[in-house]
Amino acid sequence: MKVKAGKVSIGEGSPISVQTMTTTDTRNTEETVAQIRLLEEAGADIVRLAVPDMEAAESFERIKKAVSIPIVADIHFDYRIALRCIAGGADKIRLNPGNIGDAGRVRMVAAAAKSAGIPIRIGVNGGSLEREMYEKYGNTPRAMVESAKYHASLLEQEGFSDIVISLKASDVQKTVEAYRLIAQDCPYPLHVGVTEAGTAYAGLIKSAAGIGSLLLDGIGDTIRVSLSAPPEEEVRAGIALLRALGKRQGAELISCPTCGRCKIDLMPVAKEMESYLAKIDAPIRVAVMGCAVNGPGEAREAHVGVAGGDGKAVLFRHGEIVESIPEESILPVLKSEVERIIKAWK
Ligand code: SF4
Repeated sequence: MKVKAGKVSIGEGSPISVQTMTTTDTRNTEETVAQIRLLEEAGADIVRLAVPDMEAAESFERIKKAVSIPIVADIHFDYRIALRCIAGGADKIRLNPGNIGDAGRVRMVAAAAKSAGIPIRIGVNGGSLEREMYEKYGNTPRAMVESAKYHASLLEQEGFSDIVISLKASDVQKTVEAYRLIAQDCPYPLHVGVTEAGTAYAGLIKSAAGIGSLLLDGIGDTIRVSLSAPPEEEVRAGIALLRALGKRQGAELISCPTCGRCKIDLMPVAKEMESYLAKIDAPIRVAVMGCAVNGPGEAREAHVGVAGGDGKAVLFRHGEIVESIPEESILPVLKSEVERIIKAWK
C-alpha cells in the first residue's frame, strides 16, 4: 500500500524518505520555520513537529503556509488538536487513535484526515505500551505489534486505511524483531527507526545497526535516525545510511584508515572530501588512500582517486594514472576532478 505526505510517496517501492523532527517550540512560528528550512536544505524529505497544545496547532498552520516541505503534526491524546492541524494543512498526522478517547473522536479524526487526503502514522513506542498489552504479551516485540494492530483496527473500523506504522524501541534487537514480525502480514508502509537511540556517536551506531538490518531485509519505507543532536545531523545520517546501503544514489568516499606506511596527512583530506561529497547526489566514487600498498587498487576502481606517497600522491582518473601531485594539491585537485566528471555527465 502507498500513502502520500504532500509531495512525498511512502510505500510500495517509493524511494525511502528521510525524516526528522524539529527541536524548536512549535508555538514559535519564526524559529520553527527557520529550522524547517535548514532541514530541507540538509536534505530532509519530511519534517515532524510536536504539537502539544492549541496554541501550537494555530502556529502549525502559519508554519505550513511558510514552508514547502511536507510537515507532520505529532499529537498525543487530544483529538481537537488533531482536527485543528488537519484543518491547518498538515500533510500527515502522527497519532495513536487508542489514546484519544471514544470511537466518536476517532471517527471525527479519521473523517477529517480522509477528506484532507492525508495519512495517519500510528507510532508505537516500546517504552509506553498500553497496560493490557504488557499484561498479555509482556515487554516483548509481540506486544508492540499487537498494540499497533489494535490502533490500526480503530481506524479501519472507520473505513480509514491511509496508515503508516512505526514500532520503535530504544533496544535495537527488540526494534528489529518487532518490525520483522509486523512485516509478515502488514499491508501498511512502515516508518523505521530506533527511538531514543542516544548521542551522535552511540545513537548513530544503534540506528545504523537497527535501521540498516531492516532495510537490508527490504523492510522500511521511511526512516528517522533519532539522535540527541541537532536534527540536521539526523538528516545527514539518514541520507548517508541510505547511500551506504545502496538505497539512495549519491557520491561515495573510499578512504583508508591509514597505518605506519602513510606519509601524507590523510585524515583531514578524507574528512573534507566526505562533507563535500555528502551534497553530491551523482554516483561518483572517490578514493583517498594512504600509500601504494592498497591505494592503487582502490583508486583504480574509483572514478577518481589518490594513492599517497611521501609528501605527494598519485592521481588516478577512471583507473588510469594521470600524474603525481604535491600533498597540498590533493583536495583542490580531487574537487575539480569531481566537478569535471559531473559536467561531463550532464
Ligand atoms: S592504504 Fe596504505 S596507508 Fe592506507 S591503511 Fe592500507 S597500507 Fe596503510
